[in-house]
This record gives sequence, structure tokens and C-alpha cells, in this order.
Amino acid sequence: MIYQIQTKYRDEARPRAGILRGREFVMKDSYSFDIDDAGLERSYLRHRDAYISTFDRLGLDYVIVSAMSGAMGGSASEEFLAMTDVGEDSFVRCTSCDYAANVEAVATPAPASFDASDVPPAHAEDTPDTPTIDTLVAISNDRADLARSDRPWTGADTLKNVVFMVTDPEGNREPLAIGLPGDREVDLKRLEAALSPSTAAAFEEADFAQHPALVKGYIGPGVLGEESASGIRYLLDPRVVEGTRWITGANESGRHVYDLVAGRDFSGDGVIDVAEVREGDSCPSCGEALTLARGIEIGHIFQLGRKYAEALDLKVLDENGKLATVTMGSYGIGVSRAVAAIAEQSHDDRGLIWPREVAPADIHLIATGKADEVFEAAADLAERLDAAGIRVLYDDRKGVSPGVKFNDSELLGIPTIVVVGKRLAEGFIEIKDRRTGDRDDVAVDEGFDVIRGIVQA
Ligand SMILES: [Zn+2]
Repeated sequence: MIYQIQTKYRDEARPRAGILRGREFVMKDSYSFDIDDAGLERSYLRHRDAYISTFDRLGLDYVIVSAMSGAMGGSASEEFLAMTDVGEDSFVRCTSCDYAANVEAVATPAPASFDASDVPPAHAEDTPDTPTIDTLVAISNDRADLARSDRPWTGADTLKNVVFMVTDPEGNREPLAIGLPGDREVDLKRLEAALSPSTAAAFEEADFAQHPALVKGYIGPGVLGEESASGIRYLLDPRVVEGTRWITGANESGRHVYDLVAGRDFSGDGVIDVAEVREGDSCPSCGEALTLARGIEIGHIFQLGRKYAEALDLKVLDENGKLATVTMGSYGIGVSRAVAAIAEQSHDDRGLIWPREVAPADIHLIATGKADEVFEAAADLAERLDAAGIRVLYDDRKGVSPGVKFNDSELLGIPTIVVVGKRLAEGFIEIKDRRTGDRDDVAVDEGFDVIRGIVQA
């Protein structure tokens, strides 16, 4: 295993949120090299454990989610996400089991296929002025000849066909049509993750002009697919299983097809799982409801496998003296962003509250008032604590009011604040916990031991 902790640079178009996403940042990276899959699994789990104890010690509230390996490739990957509403990554958690995944990696469970034997043959109908799903649903329910007898139509009964222009890393462009329930949008982040390293963009007017078979707003499966007239690859959402019955475009302006049955009347060239994920969607693991939340990615661990080792011809002698290609893992911690995540999770309206493990000092010692005895006692305490290896930030400013000093100490967020002031004359100092706000008066001659006890707890 090798590792580095390094300053890195990224050509970030829109740096934002302070150190959360900057052009310069600190990363910890490590790589494991093993001769077989079992070894990789071991290295991966050891890193996982180390990351858990690292983020636990940082006092972070985080989740470990399944992730897409994306451009890095490889077989397994997990992200460590610090929970915060301002996070830029969305993830889901199951309300019942321990399933958690970032939104790009959520696998939509496909429903069992339906029996469509009593669905009438597909029929095209005039549906003027229905370029949107809402207008289509409205007209379908309003007209007696189109309305369902068992329940009203909803957007989920319509099949929306969206066309994208996909560009591969060599710059080749190819259209791709995606069929999904009309009440959902294609999630562009999920699409990018699914197509990576290719990229996708919305179909533009010029693209439509080149494909006259596509009638914008009324595209139906009839003109889609590698075997169709357009030759456009057509992938379906996992919910479009055999036997499902749809209202969809008839490939003529102002017309839609009803009772078009998947498997009977149309099929796709494959499945693509890129529709938006919603609060309440079914858990792929247990079927209960998923809940959505946001987080900051603070760590990511990958089982890379042999992809890079093969490219680099990275071989070692195995136990039989034969050359074998190694299998690799890659593991990163965003050090700067971890600080941002701590600040997001650990503050109140008065300022930061550092977890003790990463606080810039153990004790913020404040001397208040004008009396020389106070400053002498505080300096003496600072010296004793320092000699005992306790890191002290000593505010010895004279002529600064206690209120200003207290405010500064709350802003800085050192976990324990010690005040030597007025009550020294009665033999007491005050010890305050920054997080809870609890204060204790402690006898001066017990102060040192009490503080040491708190720091070493
Ligand atoms: Zn579940």
C-alpha cells in the first residue's frame, strides 16, 4: 500500500462554499496492490474500517453509501457522506433496512411482469393541444371515450420518450432515446453516471431537423429502436416491464396511442435506470420506502480491480514464481472538505464548536478584569497546563472587555473555555463547555486537575 497527503488543484468552473469546493484543496490518497481478489477485499475492508474510525474521531455524522465507480471504473465503491442540508450530493436511505446509496447508484427494482391479455389492441386517437403530460392526462380523463373505468389516468400511465445526443470521448455523436413513465424526469446526474465516460445533452432543434421521423412532443416507440426507421437506440426505464399498458406519442402532431403494451406492441434495445429518484420510492433491498437526504462527500473507496494494472503492465511474481497482474484499490479522503463538513455540522449561531480531536487548542483561557493577580494566576495556570502537554490558547489582552473576550471564544469554538476573573478573589475559576454551554465554578487549586481530566477524557 502507498499513500500521500497532497495539495491538489482542479480547474473548477464555479468554486463555491468556501473550502467545500475550491480550486486548491488537500487530499489524502492511498492505493492498495494485491495479488488476488481475496487480498483486494481484505485491503478494501481494512481501509473501510480505518475510514470509519477516522470520521468517528472527527465527530462527524456520516453515512456510508453504495456509489457508482464512474470514470474510475472497477467493481465496488462506497462513499462516505457527511449529513448536511447544504451538501451537494443526494443520497437515499431505506426507512426499514440498512440500504443506502447515492442517487446515481440507486437500482430501481423492476416490478413483476403484468398479464395484459385483456388489454384491448392499441389505438391512436386525436388529442389536440396535448404537448405536455399534464394536458394529456387531463384530456384522457375528461373524454368519455378515453377515460378508464376503474380509476383516473395519471402521469405514471403515460410513456414519455426523451431523446438525448450522446458524445463519446472520441467526439462521436449518437442520439439515444429513453422511455420512462411520464410523471418522472430523466435525472441528468444519473444519466451522466450511466453513460460515463460519454456525455449527454438535450436534443436541439438542429438535431430534430436531422431526424424528421421524430415529432417533438409526440414521440412514440413506433419510430424508436435500432431496428426502426430512425435507427435511434431506445432504452427503457426498469418500470416499463412486459405487460405494462401505456399512453404514448403516435409520432404525429396532436395524436397519441392508447393501450400500447410493452412486450406485445413495442420493446426497447435495453434497460437504463436514470429516472429521478423520489422520496417514498421502493427500497431495492427490502421494498420499503426510501427517504432522500443530502451530504458532503468526505471519503470514497474503490475496488479498482486490474484495469489500471493491465494498462501499466503492473506484474509481480506470485507464490509459484509466475508473473501475475496485481489488483488495485483506491481510497481518498477530502481533507479540506472534511473541515468544511465539521464546520457545517458543528456550530451554533455564535460560532464554531470544534470536536476536541481536531480543535486548534484544548483550552481557551480567558483572563478578565484589570487586577494583576488575575493575570498572574491565569499565566501561571497556562504555564502548568502547557507543561503538561495541554494546548492552551491564552487571551491575555488587557483593556478588552469580558464580553468581547467571551464572544471571541464562542466564535473560535475551542471545546473548553476557562475564565479567570472576578471570582478569583473568592478562590474560584469558571470552566465552560463550549458545546453544551454548561458552566462550573471550580476551586483554584483544583482547576489544573479538573481541566486535565476534561481534556484527557
Ligand atoms: Zn430497505
